[in-house]
Amino acid sequence: MIPGAFEYSAPTSIAEATALLARLGDDAKILSGGQSLIPLLKLRLAAPKHLVDINRIPGLAYIREANGVLTIGALVRESDLEESDLIRTRYPILLDTSRFIADPLVRNLATVCGNLAHADPANDHPATMLALGGEVVAAGQKGERRIPFTAFFTGPFTTALRADEILTEIRIPAPPPRSGGAYLKLERKVGDFATAAVAVQVALGPTGVCERAGVGLTNVGPTPIKATRAEGSLQGKRLDDAAVKQAAQLAADEAQPTSDYRGPAEYKRDLVRVLTGRALRKALERAGGGR
Ligand SMILES: Cc1cc2nc3c(=O)[nH]c(=O)nc-3n(C[C@H](O)[C@H](O)[C@H](O)COP(=O)(O)OP(=O)(O)OC[C@H]3O[C@@H](n4cnc5c(N)ncnc54)[C@H](O)[C@@H]3O)c2cc1C
Repeated sequence: MIPGAFEYSAPTSIAEATALLARLGDDAKILSGGQSLIPLLKLRLAAPKHLVDINRIPGLAYIREANGVLTIGALVRESDLEESDLIRTRYPILLDTSRFIADPLVRNLATVCGNLAHADPANDHPATMLALGGEVVAAGQKGERRIPFTAFFTGPFTTALRADEILTEIRIPAPPPRSGGAYLKLERKVGDFATAAVAVQVALGPTGVCERAGVGLTNVGPTPIKATRAEGSLQGKRLDDAAVKQAAQLAADEAQPTSDYRGPAEYKRDLVRVLTGRALRKALERAGGGR
């Protein structure tokens, strides 16, 4: 289908873009990769009067690690993550996540920040960010503010961003030694959204005890879910089989799936249990130096 008519602007600075957004309010939508927004426009599920295209703003396509923080700029595409040596060697969980998204054509355009800002509970990056921990930078008319991932996803397709704000950067604490993470997803066919998916990130102390655990769940609730009881059950423990099984069951208990064409709720809940166990084992393998 053909989208409804809209005005189009392509500002060349954050200040120009946020001024436009402040002036236009709810009539405007930011366009980045367009891989969620354009289909919505074509289906006429969204009909903004104005698109503010941020693709011409220079300096937003960086992936860096400095001062103990990984930063990902607003115009980093999924394919940039896949091609980054830094991501491949230090953040394999991000590579796992990206590779599962859609197909190479979509990944060449879709941005990681757009994946968070869109806040579809079926999107893959939100759960991974909840497992990794960190925050986003939101730039608006009044300057910048930081929003922790835990406060960012406020409802289905809804975030803590204000109408004049652009998500300009993702900030993830660099993993300490003996860390590992993994993202596992079950999809009906390649490129589909998740029936359910689980992200796990762990950091072990020198004696092998778990010092930090993050567990995020995709598409089993109205928002991505941070499985805090599962995380709490892992901390301070040696992650043997019993600990892994207990955390997997707690994550399943924390899921809030509903039945739909991807399967009944109870099937999805059990899927969360199975995927959490497997993701934890993979994360532990990576924490021990495995790939
Ligand atoms: C065929 C297909 C399959 C897909 N499969 C998957 C999948 O399996 N898993 C998955 O996670 N995703 C999937 N996607 C979605 C894809 O990853 C989207 O591109 C992504 O969710 C949005 O990123 P974008 O850069 O394309 O954003 P856009 O489509 O440009 O924007 C999406 C929304 O976010 C807002 N927005 C975008 N960037 C910003 C920003 N920097 N600051 C503030 N607001 C912003 C826009 O205003 C809009 O409301 C699929 C898409 C397609 C077309």
